[in-house]
Amino acid sequence: MITSFAPGRVNLIGEHTDYTGGLVLPMALTMGITVSGSVGGGRLTLSSSQQSEVLDLVLPIDGSASAVDPPWGRYLAAVVSSLDFTEGFDGSIDSTLPAGGTGLSSSSALTVAVLLALGGDRDRHELAQLARDIEAEATGVRSGIMDQLSSVSGVDGHALLIDCRTLDVTPTPLPEGLDVLVVHSGQPRILADSEYNERRASCEALETMIGPLRDATLDDLGQVSDERLRSRGRHVISENARVHAMVDALAAGDLPLAGEILGEGHRSLADDYEVSTPIVDAQAAKLSATPGIYGARLTGGGFGGSLVAFAEPGVELDIDEWWIRAEPGPGASVSSTPD
Ligand code: ADP
Ligand code: MG
Repeated sequence: MITSFAPGRVNLIGEHTDYTGGLVLPMALTMGITVSGSVGGGRLTLSSSQQSEVLDLVLPIDGSASAVDPPWGRYLAAVVSSLDFTEGFDGSIDSTLPAGGTGLSSSSALTVAVLLALGGDRDRHELAQLARDIEAEATGVRSGIMDQLSSVSGVDGHALLIDCRTLDVTPTPLPEGLDVLVVHSGQPRILADSEYNERRASCEALETMIGPLRDATLDDLGQVSDERLRSRGRHVISENARVHAMVDALAAGDLPLAGEILGEGHRSLADDYEVSTPIVDAQAAKLSATPGIYGARLTGGGFGGSLVAFAEPGVELDIDEWWIRAEPGPGASVSSTPD
């Protein structure tokens, strides 16, 4: 019997920076996805407590992983294809992450947990890169490395400063007296994949003009004549600086400053990167005006989804949407016991 667990994540700051080798500051959550089952039988048979249909595939899979039904089975099909896994696995998936639309990276948690269960364990960088490639194959979206690397690198009680160029992960303790809230905006994510690809293409276009955005300064943007591209670049360059500023503010225990940095991050995502929506902006404003909240911003790719807020301990929210007090937890793991 094999059991694996991989956590979801919430990104505190450093949004839309991972795919240009920038800085991000996520934390792995105590919530995540558990896969358990046993190897053998030549089929991939899995049920999920959050899904009504069972996945049942004969191995090796005939055709593309991205065409598998039910759609959630595409992540699993892409794992077995990439590992050339043919022995078979019979098991179940259980999740403590909310089902769908909250942007806590359940897809990466699922991919990493399945990879570990099917014997794909390897060093953390390779595991995260493999999981990222597998997700891209399953969904057609070329995401950055943040989600998968957070899931494999989580440290109890810590956020993770990740340099997405070197893949160095520096655990950063969260100060006493800080509650991290994740709050749904009330809007499911829409257009997220196509807009994501467009933002990525804009960054690539900018980099042909001024070189790697990771090394660029706001002054370098003076060479860019296209106003929209200039604002995209301004977001990425200032966001990388905000990650450093946030790490310093948290180390100093300066929570009002940390909250201000969240607010600046939100404005940059909304005005310069244009990935927010009126509903998300309204939720950010409402949270920021709530007594005991230091600041809030959109977290995740945007176009709906969730916000992250820094709060004094014990703050209760008077809202209709789903929200949690998030706890930073350890990274993915796998264990096996005799049947
Ligand atoms: P996020 O990763 O931010 O949660 P995504 O849209 O990237 O959102 O991934 C959500 C998808 O991951 C779901 O549509 C489903 O295919 C898959 N998934 C997540 N949790 C589960 C689960 N418990 N069981 C089966 N599939 C899941
Ligand atoms: Mg995802």
